[in-house]
Amino acid sequence: MYIDPHVHMVSRTTDDYERMALAGCVAITEPAFWAGYDRSSAAGFYDYFRTLTEYEPMRAAQYGIAHHTWLCINPKEAEDMGLAREVLSIIPEFLKGPNVLGIGEIGLNKNSRNELKIFEEHVELAKTHDQMILIHTPHLEDKLKGTKLILDALENAGVDPGRVLVDHVEEHTVELVLDRGFWAGMTLYPDTKCTPQRAADIFEVYGQERIWINSAGDWGPSDPLAVPKCQQELRARGHLEKMIRTVSYDNPLTFLSQSGKFRTSND
Ligand SMILES: [Zn+2]
Repeated sequence: MYIDPHVHMVSRTTDDYERMALAGCVAITEPAFWAGYDRSSAAGFYDYFRTLTEYEPMRAAQYGIAHHTWLCINPKEAEDMGLAREVLSIIPEFLKGPNVLGIGEIGLNKNSRNELKIFEEHVELAKTHDQMILIHTPHLEDKLKGTKLILDALENAGVDPGRVLVDHVEEHTVELVLDRGFWAGMTLYPDTKCTPQRAADIFEVYGQERIWINSAGDWGPSDPLAVPKCQQELRARGHLEKMIRTVSYDNPLTFLSQSGKFRTSND
């Protein structure tokens, strides 16, 4: 049994829902992100938010998977500040939706000034509406600097770190995130970011408190079964079932339940 707390099902097929259910998935959360192309208007985001709040929950339910979502304009498209602010203005009407857990995945991509400004405006929106936050951290050489900028901005805004998940952590950022009281997510990819093996190493070094794993499955090379594959890796290394359940079920359940809306198909 597991929860995949970060997977972009809008870009996956219905067969993937079936395979995930067969592997023991009982709940997912799907943050808003870049669609693989830049949208030309806020109306494109309006339709996307309807997909995330209306259509995907029904598709998931057919396989006994409880579906939840997070809303935002991703940093890549936030470079256009006019568009970003229009999108920010339509988010509040969706926040009351029964499967909406908060604002995400927000963060930085190239660590630009515009991205940071729109990031801060998302944080304000989350504070105004008492929403939890899911953070995207940049890739490769921009990751460490971007993670520090993001954590500083969250602390300056007075956000409770216990209600923020910082995703895509790797060996060089995980300690920073945990030490400052935030939750950390490891994204398991077949090649880039964390592989299931690297994630297992990180658990062995940094422990299992306030940390989870997710597949971040999307339209690119990625694996919607990455979480159960990491469970297998941990089993092969001799970890106890209790430990495996902590990182793949109990931790996401504890964090996400703070929203008051999270449920699994066991509920
Ligand atoms: Zn993502």
